Amino acid sequence: ARQFFVGGNFKMNGSVDTIKKIIGNLNNAKLDPSTEVVIAPPALYLLLARSELRSGVEVAAQNVFDKPQGAFTGEISADQLKDSNITWALIGHSERRTILREDDAFVASKTKAALDGGIGVILCCGESLEQREAGKTIDVVTSQLAAVKAKVSDWSKIVIAYEPIWAIGTGKVATTEQAQEVHAAIRAWLKKEIGEKVAEDTRIIYGGSVSDKNCGDLSKQPDIDGFLVGGASLKPAFVDIINSRL
Ligand code: 13P
Repeated sequence: ARQFFVGGNFKMNGSVDTIKKIIGNLNNAKLDPSTEVVIAPPALYLLLARSELRSGVEVAAQNVFDKPQGAFTGEISADQLKDSNITWALIGHSERRTILREDDAFVASKTKAALDGGIGVILCCGESLEQREAGKTIDVVTSQLAAVKAKVSDWSKIVIAYEPIWAIGTGKVATTEQAQEVHAAIRAWLKKEIGEKVAEDTRIIYGGSVSDKNCGDLSKQPDIDGFLVGGASLKPAFVDIINSRL
């Protein structure tokens, strides 16, 4: 069985003070021991988060560069994350794809660099509202994944996050049917393109307006293996989402 996985993407939110409070809350909470939990604070607070956070909860960067070191002002490498005990990275979030103009090839190249550096990857994919309404959801998502397949052969340290753009930060969560349909299609794509075992083992998590109110039903879907949580990861309700299968 796939281990349930819940990530908290703080995005560009928080301060020394509020991040300490969020972590204090997590440290004192009773977390379902069968859930793998990862939090992704802004880069500036990664080391603070790692030193404050209890063991058993991992820390992710929200981004990583595709080169190991050198003259790349403002960037952080997988080796540097590893050196700082930051064991995961978010890659391909829609906010980076759209606002920072990251394309599929760059996302794939960063995924390869992270995996080569020993960092687990939470690989984000998802369609816009316009693409959904044009019936292109599965095509968009699988072509985002195909770009990664072209550069990566070992999928064992990849968690796929399906995040429909129209559901991010809007309060408009995908229905259980909408999410399950895309998750099943991603798993079918994995089976066909990568292999049966990878399809069976890969966690496919959902992101987009996940809350303590809607996580229970979503978590019962056969192909939903967890969540990538934005806004609610900054609040005490994050604990209820971690515990959504209890
Ligand atoms: P919200 O949970 O705030 O909708 O954000 C989802 C997200 O983008 C997580 O990466």
